[in-house]
Amino acid sequence: MTLRFKRVLLKVSGEALMGQQGFGIDVAVADRIAGDIREARELGVEISVVIGGGNIFRGVAVASKGGDRVTGDHMGMLATVINALALRTSLTKIGVDAIVLSAIAMPEICESFSQRAALAHAEAGRVVIFAGGTGNPFFTTDSAAALRAAEMGAHALFKGTQVDGIYSADPKFVPDATRFDQLTHDDVLSRGLAVMDVTAVALARENHIPIVVFSIHEQGEFTRILTGGGRSTIVSD
Ligand code: UDP
Repeated sequence: MTLRFKRVLLKVSGEALMGQQGFGIDVAVADRIAGDIREARELGVEISVVIGGGNIFRGVAVASKGGDRVTGDHMGMLATVINALALRTSLTKIGVDAIVLSAIAMPEICESFSQRAALAHAEAGRVVIFAGGTGNPFFTTDSAAALRAAEMGAHALFKGTQVDGIYSADPKFVPDATRFDQLTHDDVLSRGLAVMDVTAVALARENHIPIVVFSIHEQGEFTRILTGGGRSTIVSD
C-alpha cells in the first residue's frame, strides 16, 4: 500500500474532544480518535499530535472580561495538558505507546518538551503528544502544530476540523459556500480563509509543509486520506 505521507503531525482541537457536550472531554470521542491514530500507526505512519484546549479554556475569555490576557493564556495552555493526558489514556487503553511532552515544565505530570526528546520517542515508536501549545501566551495550538511539525520534520500537518475541508465561508451558516480540493498557503492567507491562524499558515508555508484539512469526526477518514482516498483540502506550495 502506498502512503501519501510517512510522518505526520495531527492537530486535534479541544472542541473535537468535546463531542456533543458543551464543555470538557467526551471519553468516547477521545477513544474513537485514539482508534483512528492506532489504525494509521498500524499502516506504518509515524504520528505526533498537538492538542488544543478550547473545550476547557481559551485565554481570550479572560481578556474579554477585562482580565489579564497572559494569565488567561496560561490557563488555556494548562487546559491542553488535561486534554493531552486524556488522549494518552485513550491510546494506552488500546495498546498504543504514547508520551506527553509539555512546553511548560511540570515534571510530576509529564516530560518537558525538547526536540531531542520528541525525536527519540518518535524513533522508539511512540505517539508523541505535545501539550502546552508553544509555551507562550498570544499564540494558539494551531501555531504550535505548525511549529512542532517543522521540528519533527513532518511531511504534512493534518488539521482535524468539524467539516471535510476548507470552504469559502462557514458551511454551517452559508449553505452554498464553495469547497476547495486544493489551495496554496498564499491562497489561504490572501483570501483570509479562517481555517488556521495566520501565524500557523505562514510557518507552514515557510517550511514547505502541506496542511491537510479534514473532518476529525469521520471515523477512519485519517487513514483513508493517508492511503490516497477520503475527502480533504490540501494546502501546499
Ligand atoms: N495558548 C497559548 N499559547 C499557545 C497555545 C495555546 O496561550 O501556544 C492558550 C490560548 O489561551 C488558547 C488556549 O491555550 O486560547 C487553548 O488553545 P487553542 O485555542 O489553540 O485550542 P483549540 O482551539 O485548538 O481547542
